[in-house]
Amino acid sequence: MASKNRKLMRVFDAFLRALALVLVVLSIIFMVEGQSQTGWLLLLLSILLFITTVPRPPPPIEPVFSVSTEVICEGCGHKYVRPFKKGDYVFKEVEECPRCKKPMIITAIFRKPTKEELS
Ligand SMILES: [Zn+2]
Repeated sequence: MASKNRKLMRVFDAFLRALALVLVVLSIIFMVEGQSQTGWLLLLLSILLFITTVPRPPPPIEPVFSVSTEVICEGCGHKYVRPFKKGDYVFKEVEECPRCKKPMIITAIFRKPTKEELS
């Protein structure tokens, strides 16, 4: 839907630029025929049209990553992976192990590869 809109905008921009070119030609004709005020006005209008239709680069697509945190117990090696929480860092002590009650530490923070990266 968004790409269709962008395509439509490009066609519209091309039309406006063509219109600006026509206005430049018209302004020259008006100036040659002595109606310089109308000529300058049309020239100004065509410049404005050119400026507003300068091709803009498309906005960058921001990939959405799911970041995970790996937590391991130092005592028994119990390990689990949970979604990343703000404030997580490697070697941070997070909670006590549900098995042996020793402190668990974060050993890795990683993002899962996207579908494109896997294929
Ligand atoms: Zn443990």
